[in-house]
Amino acid sequence: EINNVNEHYFGAYGSYGIHREMISDKVRTDAYRGAILNNPSLVKGSTVLDVGCGTGILSLFAAQAGASKVIAVEASEKMAMVASRIAKDNGLLLDGNQSGVISIVQCMVEELDKQLTVPRHSVDVLVSEWMGYCLLYESMLGSVLYARDKWLKPGGSILPDTATIFVAGFGKGGTSIPFWEDVYGFDMSCIGKEVVEDAAQVPIVDVIDSQHIVTNTATLQTFDLLTMKSEEMDFTARCELELKRDLPEQYQSPLVSCYGVVLWFETGFTSRFCKEMPAVLSTSPYTPKTHWSQTIFTFREPIKMVTSGKVSSAALGTNECPVSRIQSRISIVRAAQHRSIDISLEVSGISLD
Ligand code: SAH
Repeated sequence: EINNVNEHYFGAYGSYGIHREMISDKVRTDAYRGAILNNPSLVKGSTVLDVGCGTGILSLFAAQAGASKVIAVEASEKMAMVASRIAKDNGLLLDGNQSGVISIVQCMVEELDKQLTVPRHSVDVLVSEWMGYCLLYESMLGSVLYARDKWLKPGGSILPDTATIFVAGFGKGGTSIPFWEDVYGFDMSCIGKEVVEDAAQVPIVDVIDSQHIVTNTATLQTFDLLTMKSEEMDFTARCELELKRDLPEQYQSPLVSCYGVVLWFETGFTSRFCKEMPAVLSTSPYTPKTHWSQTIFTFREPIKMVTSGKVSSAALGTNECPVSRIQSRISIVRAAQHRSIDISLEVSGISLD
């Protein structure tokens, strides 16, 4: 089954559309490009390992930044072939005639040993764009950590070097309820209700407008990619959410219903390795959108919230039972024999007093 999953996975990366989508994602590509080109002390003269090179774009940047050697590994046969052609067409392929620095190797990085002699712990900089939806979907991170442990020098650098998952709660406007409530003046809210019920079963990858975020943003989990172990990819973490201070205009009422939570991630190219110019790649709803969008989890029932200290329970009427904080416990674990992940979400409201 693992082989089938991988065949499907690498097959998908053999289509140019995906690579076009990733390269056109300027937030993504500019973050990597900036980290590589604006930190010459990191890349100049160094040996770089690009895990999952695709078209080879990150390797081309590394060559441009003056790397003395770039090993670009790609499992998809088709992309490895195309990447060689591209490196060659740009005069950057290391072969008999050219003075280039890039070597493309077609294999799973886990099998690199069988294709090319790369001395253990000989790589100065490991670069990879491994992130999936909700950071860990399609978890390619395990392969990056494997490569790190085998080939990165002690004191070597990894790009990016941190990854953080964030959580925030959203209001009604983050669901499709408002859309169905008024369709050319007709009430189609029965559809909205059904859609929201279905959404409570599976997370949805979509952009959410920051004007529908009604709580603070909490950090769910932070990974140090230089030191983390692959077991840490499975985790359970807790966080607390309360109504944010500067609520968007349409939510400025004493009671605000929270319809679910949204997750997103950031990766950091921090000053630890990017000494000249650190960078952050953010997939937040508060910053320009990326092809990762956000990941939206809808509650079965909305949770009514109040700002603590603002409203007394007595003033709210008898059948209201609002909470001032939502505690949530989220666990993300790799699904057995799969590239997918299992996410579980438990929420409980902490009432006013
Ligand atoms: N670096 C490119 C492509 C990123 S997409 C860019 O930034 O545009 C990730 C790529 O990694 C895909 O092309 C996929 O086929 C490859 N890949 C994933 N896991 C891999 C592994 N274990 N070994 C080699 N390549 C892998």
